[in-house]
Amino acid sequence: MINMTKSIYSILDKAYNTYSLDKSEISYLLKTEENNKIFSAADKVRKEHVGDKVHLRALIEFSNYCKQDCLYCGLRRSNTKIIRYRLEPQEIINSTKKATEYGYKTIVLQSGEDLYYTIDRMSKIISEIKKFDIAVTLSIGEKTFEEYKAYREAGADRYLLRIETTDEVLYAKLNPGMSLKNRMRCLEDIKKLYYEVGSGIMVGLPGQTIESIAEDIAYFKSIPIDMAGVGPFIYHPDTPIEKTKGNYFELTLKVMAILRLLMPNINIPATTAMDVLNSNGRLIALQCGANVVMPNATETTYRKYYEIYPGKICINDSPKYCRFCIESKIKSINRNVAKSKGYHRSSLNLAEKHERTQK
Ligand code: SF4
Repeated sequence: MINMTKSIYSILDKAYNTYSLDKSEISYLLKTEENNKIFSAADKVRKEHVGDKVHLRALIEFSNYCKQDCLYCGLRRSNTKIIRYRLEPQEIINSTKKATEYGYKTIVLQSGEDLYYTIDRMSKIISEIKKFDIAVTLSIGEKTFEEYKAYREAGADRYLLRIETTDEVLYAKLNPGMSLKNRMRCLEDIKKLYYEVGSGIMVGLPGQTIESIAEDIAYFKSIPIDMAGVGPFIYHPDTPIEKTKGNYFELTLKVMAILRLLMPNINIPATTAMDVLNSNGRLIALQCGANVVMPNATETTYRKYYEIYPGKICINDSPKYCRFCIESKIKSINRNVAKSKGYHRSSLNLAEKHERTQK
């Protein structure tokens, strides 16, 4: 138990000086109502360690088919109300090319777990889009070590696999047919293959506790991850999950801020779901520790069908509009878009290390 007389200042000082807090101190920060102190500290650390530039990652949602059945997700296989789509490899390549013409240096290919994209198909897509001189992030779910290896060798630089929760019982309940053990195995494989590792959680899941969020944060530090994507739980009416009453905007901001304090130079996106709960959500997140935004670069026709949660923003906008809209928003808070690929500083030589392991 934390000494309750210990002030928030002493915890923030400890985080600032040592980049470490024990789980009771993390829980204290998650529970306190002195949120602005945490946000200011995280913003200061962000500025000192990763600067004022904001990295853009163009998100291409290329398939909403999924073999999994996660209780909170609109793409789950049991959702018969959703209209399914998938892009052909050439369409993915064309969308990527377009995104690079708008100045993006990183492309995130995201989909449900769609078996149509075999190792061969996916590897070809990756090697083709790498010719555009971009960093490639994959966010395509749980794979075998061999699949991750093939994609790394085809040129993928980063892999995003949110764990959502490290509470084993809750994980099993929310993700039927899946296991926390396998999810962790995937993240270990990704790490072994010298990808930049991205993970994250959903804040406000029914049954989630503050203590389990503190465990999640400690887990990310133990890996350690290179990128942390944290989003609020938003109830989808076409899913069987229980509807919770809370608004988890502030708590999600706090998780981002604490991650920034404990891992000062990682990449932290201001997640798009934050804008669903507050129209300035991403801009607020950028002032609470975040340094990345993932604008949608999916063609307008498909956007409305990639509905993990309802109320998604920008569904009627074009990739070009989103690119220029986000830049003007970023400028409105006196920040600028970065021109580099935005690797996590400690990962700059990962590609080299990976090459060495191949020899
Ligand atoms: S969360 Fe991911 S794996 Fe689960 S149903 Fe949705 S798209 Fe599929």
